[in-house]
Amino acid sequence: MTLAGKSAIITGSNSGIGLGIARELARAGADVVLNSFTDRDEDHALAAEIGSEFGVSARYIKADMSKGDECRDLITQAGGCDILVNNAGIQHVAPIDEFPVEKWDAIIAINMNSTFHTMAAALPVMRERGWGRIVNIASAHGLTASPFKAAYIAAKHGVVGMSKTVALETAQEPITCNAICPGYVLTPLVEAQIPDTMREYNMSREDVVKNVMLTRQPSKEFATVEQLGSTTVFLCTDAAAQITGTTISVDGGWTAL
Ligand code: NAD
Repeated sequence: MTLAGKSAIITGSNSGIGLGIARELARAGADVVLNSFTDRDEDHALAAEIGSEFGVSARYIKADMSKGDECRDLITQAGGCDILVNNAGIQHVAPIDEFPVEKWDAIIAINMNSTFHTMAAALPVMRERGWGRIVNIASAHGLTASPFKAAYIAAKHGVVGMSKTVALETAQEPITCNAICPGYVLTPLVEAQIPDTMREYNMSREDVVKNVMLTRQPSKEFATVEQLGSTTVFLCTDAAAQITGTTISVDGGWTAL
């Protein structure tokens, strides 16, 4: 298995894309640390399921990515970090003159500042172990904008810029740092919106997906969490050793428009 013996930490991984990435890293043989801000039995059970399904060590560690000290503690508590995936993220949609300050602060903290803190804590560990891969989950909104998403777009552009900077700081070491920029991904959160939207617009599922949700995604298909996971695994292989400081779009052509 490609990643056997490597330890991976995936922030915000008790659902959606983070969980998909954790599963694909585990399938490739990596030991995984799952994370979110909750500490429920089901969070720990999720890690245990992944561990037994793929025959790797899998743990869940609670840490709130809105708090810098908890971001750094996550890396310390994990006790090893060869692969760091910064995925935790939230969204809020409002025009800038009505954007709630607390939502702005939370989005910037969780979606961007956490990436600074975890990378700062993980890099010395990677250097000591002589190998490292950092994969930051940005967004098509790290490369383009849409109205009403000022905080999210500022944070995701920040993540893309920070990834390039860290890539330059580690360019002569066996460490890479890249950002993946997904378009719309079919996560449980998105799936749950489909029935309501079908009712609201009196449309078929296919029409809602193509003409409402994926208006800006030329493929008219969602990206999947498995595709995001496999892209992350690829970035962790030797084939990707010279891929650093760049963005990989998994967006069905969105950013080609
Ligand atoms: P999701 O809501 O399913 O997952 C978000 C994860 O972050 C969850 O595990 C949640 O528990 C965790 N999280 C939230 N606040 C946290 C906090 N304070 N501390 C720790 N963890 C926290 O959403 P998703 O769609 O899987 O999104 C994952 C990432 O992918 C986000 O960064 C998002 O911006 C990005 N993204 C998603 C899409 C999409 O279409 N779904 C597209 C582009 C980028």
